[in-house]
Amino acid sequence: MRIGAHVDPTDPLAEATARAADAVQFFLADPQGWKAPQPRDDAERLRTAEVDVYVHAPYVINVATGNNRIRIPSRKLLLAHAKAATAIGAKGLVVHGGHVNAGDDPQTGFDNWRKALAYAQEGGGFGLPVLIENTAGGENACARRLDALARLWDAVGDHEVGFCLDTCHAHAGGEELLDLVDRVKAITGRIDLVHANNSKDGFGSGRDRHDNLRGGTIDPQLLVAVIRAAGAPVIVETPGGTTGQSEDIAFLRTQLDPETAVR
Ligand SMILES: [Zn+2]
Repeated sequence: MRIGAHVDPTDPLAEATARAADAVQFFLADPQGWKAPQPRDDAERLRTAEVDVYVHAPYVINVATGNNRIRIPSRKLLLAHAKAATAIGAKGLVVHGGHVNAGDDPQTGFDNWRKALAYAQEGGGFGLPVLIENTAGGENACARRLDALARLWDAVGDHEVGFCLDTCHAHAGGEELLDLVDRVKAITGRIDLVHANNSKDGFGSGRDRHDNLRGGTIDPQLLVAVIRAAGAPVIVETPGGTTGQSEDIAFLRTQLDPETAVR
């Protein structure tokens, strides 16, 4: 099982080495901004690296919203990030499920997702799997609770999209982790990536504050059980920099594969 971390984008491969990580995830542009991603000088190194590369799209992207001034730039920025992620050989581009505004019909959000994927197809396709991630908060989210996820997948399931399961978001979002993988796969048929994070906040809090795997309000063994059941590559998006993330990665290796825990 490939295990890695979300790292600073300056030199992701050095960050992987520092953590003994098999995989890295990073941003290609300011996650709070609308700037298009720029070509990277280390594209060739990233493409040919042993380390698996994932890209996280900016948080500002919301292809579901009824607000044209967010939705249209979101479609364009998502496609731009997909092309830039493809250029560095990324295995997937993670993007949050998004939400509609209070009072808007949730179905419009699912329909807007379908339109965003059709827009990308007309623009030559993403070039790599786009992985929709479950989110922790909001009452009108497209991928917080599984009832919404089921409606989202009804809308987008015919397109080439995957799913990224964040354990902190599921717990804080109000989905029990026990048997979660089975319930998700019954909807999506797949889990392409796990974001393995503990949560500083309680079940159903709607808050998105990650904690190290052995900290937080989730039983670490429950996290391990979810990761084992998912059988997908794992990225920790946990605090504590190199030390905190290295410990989280080492903990998972020990728990998941005791024979080869020492590397
Ligand atoms: Zn995440």
